[in-house]
Amino acid sequence: MRIDLHTHSLASDGTDTPGGVLAQAARAGIDVVGLTDHDTIRGWEDAVAAVAATGVALVRGAEVSCSAGGIAVHLLSYLHDPAEIALAELMEASRTLRMRRARAMVDALAADFPITWDDVAAQTGDLSTVGRPHMADALVAAGVFPDRDHAFERVLHASGPYYIHLDAPHPRDVVVAIRAAGGVPVMAHPFAERRGRVVGDDVVADLVDHGLAALEADHRDHSDANRAHARALAIHLGVPVTGASDYHGTGKPNLIGENLTDEAVYEALIAQGTLEVVHP
Ligand code: AMP
Ligand code: ZN
Ligand code: FE
Ligand code: FE
Repeated sequence: MRIDLHTHSLASDGTDTPGGVLAQAARAGIDVVGLTDHDTIRGWEDAVAAVAATGVALVRGAEVSCSAGGIAVHLLSYLHDPAEIALAELMEASRTLRMRRARAMVDALAADFPITWDDVAAQTGDLSTVGRPHMADALVAAGVFPDRDHAFERVLHASGPYYIHLDAPHPRDVVVAIRAAGGVPVMAHPFAERRGRVVGDDVVADLVDHGLAALEADHRDHSDANRAHARALAIHLGVPVTGASDYHGTGKPNLIGENLTDEAVYEALIAQGTLEVVHP
C-alpha cells in the first residue's frame, strides 16, 4: 500500500480542490491520502465525496498551528471527532490569529511591493485559512516574483523582515486537545531547519509524554541528518515515524506520494483514531 498522510487543498493553502487532491493521488498510484489543511476541516466533505470515484481511501485530518517559545510547530491531527468543541475552537482561534497576522504582514509588504490586502484576499477563496502562500501568490500575480518559491526565498521566509510569528497555542496543549477529541497527533516535519528554528528533543519528549503518537521523519524539508535525528529520537521515545509529501498542488514542488508511510505504522495509527478511514 502507498500511503501519503500529509496534503493540503484549497481549503487552506493548496491549489487543488479537496476532491482534486484525491484525483491527483489516484493518478500517482496512491492508495491512502491524509487531507491535512492548516487549522481547518472544511475540505473534508468534498474529499469524502471523491473517495468512491477516485478509489483512494481518505484519512480525515488537519495540520494544527502551534508555537513553543516563539518556534513554529505543526501538529497533524488524524481522525478526530469534529464535534469535539475544544479542538474545533482552538483551530478557529488560530484561523482568526492568522487573519490578524496576515493583515499586519501585508501592511508591511504593501509599503515595498505593489500589492494590497484585496489582492491577497483574492488568492484565498473565502479567507478562512490565510497564510504566507497566499501573500506569495499575490506577489506572483503582481509580477514581482515568478513563483511561490521565489517569493518565500526573497521576502516571506521566517528570518525575513516581513515575517510575523503566529502566536498559536503550545503544542503540549494541542496534543492534549487532539487526544481529547479522539484524534491521533503526529508532529509534522519536527526538525525542518531549512524552515527556521526547530524545537529541542526535550520538547518532543514532553509531547510524547502527553500523547504524541509519531514523528514525521520522511519529509522534503528534512535533510538526511534531520531524518536520521527524527528516527533516532523516535526509537528513543518509543514512537513510530511517518513519511509524507506535504503536497500543496502547483504551489510547491512537492509531488504527491514523494514520501510514504509504512503500512504497519499506518495501521497502528488509524487504530487509535475515533473516526474511520473512508474507504472506496
Ligand atoms: P504560514 O502558515 O502562513 O506560516 O505559511 C507556511 C506555509 O508556507 C506552509 O504550508 C509551507 O508549506 C509554505 N511554504 C513554506 N516555504 C515555502 C516555499 N518555499 N514555497 C511555497 N510554499 C512554502
Ligand atoms: Zn501549507
Ligand atoms: Fe507544516
Ligand atoms: Fe503541511
